[in-house]
Formats: sequence, C-alpha cells, structure tokens
Amino acid sequence: MTDLSAAQIRFPFPDAPAPGTATEVAEGVLWMRIPLPWALDHVNVYALDDGDGWTLVDTGADIDICRKTWDALLAGPLGYRPVRRVVVTHHHPDHIGLAGWFQQQGAELITTRTAWLYARMLVLDVEERPAPETLAYWRGAGMAPEVYAKRVTARPYNFADVVAPLPLGYTRIVEGDRIRMGGRDWIIRMGDGHAPEHATFWEVGGDLVIGGDQILPGISANIGVHASEPLADPLSEWMAACARLEPHVSERQLVLPGHKLPFKGLPHRLRQMVDNHHGALDRLRAHLAQPRTACQCFVPLFGREISGDAYGLAMVESVAHLNHLLKLGEVRRWRGENDVWLWQRVDR
Ligand SMILES: [Zn+2]
Repeated sequence: MTDLSAAQIRFPFPDAPAPGTATEVAEGVLWMRIPLPWALDHVNVYALDDGDGWTLVDTGADIDICRKTWDALLAGPLGYRPVRRVVVTHHHPDHIGLAGWFQQQGAELITTRTAWLYARMLVLDVEERPAPETLAYWRGAGMAPEVYAKRVTARPYNFADVVAPLPLGYTRIVEGDRIRMGGRDWIIRMGDGHAPEHATFWEVGGDLVIGGDQILPGISANIGVHASEPLADPLSEWMAACARLEPHVSERQLVLPGHKLPFKGLPHRLRQMVDNHHGALDRLRAHLAQPRTACQCFVPLFGREISGDAYGLAMVESVAHLNHLLKLGEVRRWRGENDVWLWQRVDR
C-alpha cells in the first residue's frame, strides 16, 4: 500500500532558522531554534511581539550554548526589547530550563501548576547516586546488567544540572483559559501523557497552534513511566489528550511544534499519533505470548534493539506500554529472578 502520510503533512518553512536568527512564521510570531548537545539536537522556541516587549514560548536548557544563543537572539531579531513573559508548555529541561533565568531578569513565568511544581521539585531534588527506589525500578524493568552496573555508581542525570533555579512564584494557566500574545488571542488546551498538564495554545479566529511536544511532526514524543509513579499509565493519558484535541483540528492550521519543523496537516498527524501507539500495542500483545521483561520489548515497540543514550527512554516507554495493557487487564506480571517483572498476555 502506498504511504500517503508524507504527502498529507506539509512543511511550509522547510529551512530551520540558523542559531541566533529568527523566521517570522506569521505576523508578530518569530520561530527560533536553540541548539542542544543531545540526541535531539535542538528545541524550537517562539517569540510573540506584544508591542512593548516579547512573550517567549519555551526556553531551551540551562547550558552555555543555550544562554549564548539567547544572547544572540536578544541582540539580533529581538532587538533588545524586554522579555516580559515566558510561557512554558511543560516541565522538561529543554523547555523550562531557562525560565528561572528570564525570571531573574524580570520576566513573568506563565505555565501550568503541574509543570511548575514538577520542575521546582526536580530542581531541588539533587542526587549524587540513584535513589534505592530508582534502582529497584530499573531492576524491575529488566535493565541490562552492564547498563545497570554502570549506572549504580554514576551520578544520575539531575534536573539542576540543566535547569536554572526557579524563584518562588508563577502565573498559572488552566484548560480553557485565554491568553493574549503576539496581537492574537489564544485558547489553552491541555495535553497529557508526554508530560502531565502540558499546555498547548490555539489561536482564536486564526490558524496557529503552538503544540510544544504534545504535537510533533515526524518523531513521537516519549511516553514514559518513572520510579516516582511506577504504576502510571501515561499512554491512556496521551490517548485521552489526543481525543480531546481532535475536535479542534483543521487542515488550515499551522502547527508550531517544540521540535522539528512547523507543519500543516494536523488532522492527519493526530490520527497518525494515535494509530502508531495502537500498532505498537498490537505488536506487543503478540510478543507477550511468551513472558518478557520490559527491556525485552524494544523490538516490537521500536523495530530494533536499543542501546546507548536512547536505552533509558526506550525502557521507560516499554514500561508505559506494559502498564497500559496491565490496566486493560490484558497482561499479568510477576516477579522473576533479581526483582525483575515478567509480563505475559492473559489469554481469555
Ligand atoms: Zn522537548
């Protein structure tokens, strides 16, 4: 069968702005890129022209290259006009990392309560070694022994390493709120699943959508389970968010995503995002005819074995899919050797 998916998603701005430059994607709406030294090597940020200053959407991480890029942007396309507000879509470091830095310079932080609480908690929770609960979670997922051995003694990834301290106080946004930015009114709709209470912004009487990581083209947002909530079912939350957003999508909309390129074709993309997970769940069901650990489910879920930097992301996403089937009553799990959970389909 011919795959029409590529044809149905269109990229009106095929060239990303170079670091330190901006592309005006609509009047008063600038698209910029902040480089990241990670596998996903950039995050998109947006500046909305409020006349006497700027509202920024998302910030990049608190690392040297991101601050330097902002310095160039503020001196260049933003013309040293003040940053009055920083709107953050969700609590991940590539999005909220420099919010506190802008706050220190006088900006107001606007985000969801969950995003603010999560980010502030994680910034304060500095660990020199993985917590015992984290180690138990990794053993439960069946983390490869060589990966586990390396991580037990290593300093874990800490939010505080890449997120500037968040001063006390922010402005909360909730589902259905309206906000004016860039000379336009936007209605706020909540995403979920990739990050809890992930804000997206839909232009009222217009066709712009700021999607953050809830609505990405080409790559799927990571949907993961972590030691903080080992029985979470974020995949259900993701599906529910897709269903909530679906009545609002149209072919005319230009989506401004957190990564990759602005695109049109949101109705198709949203369907694809849901179908991809249904496909993955079906492959996983077949794979679970035999007992498997979470880390033995990479091939049906991702089409290949995963190692290196992506291993942790693959592991937490595997657990998310397994937890989802557990909630549906389609699998059972039991403890095997060395604390590992084994999962198998329940045949009825
Ligand atoms: Zn992101």
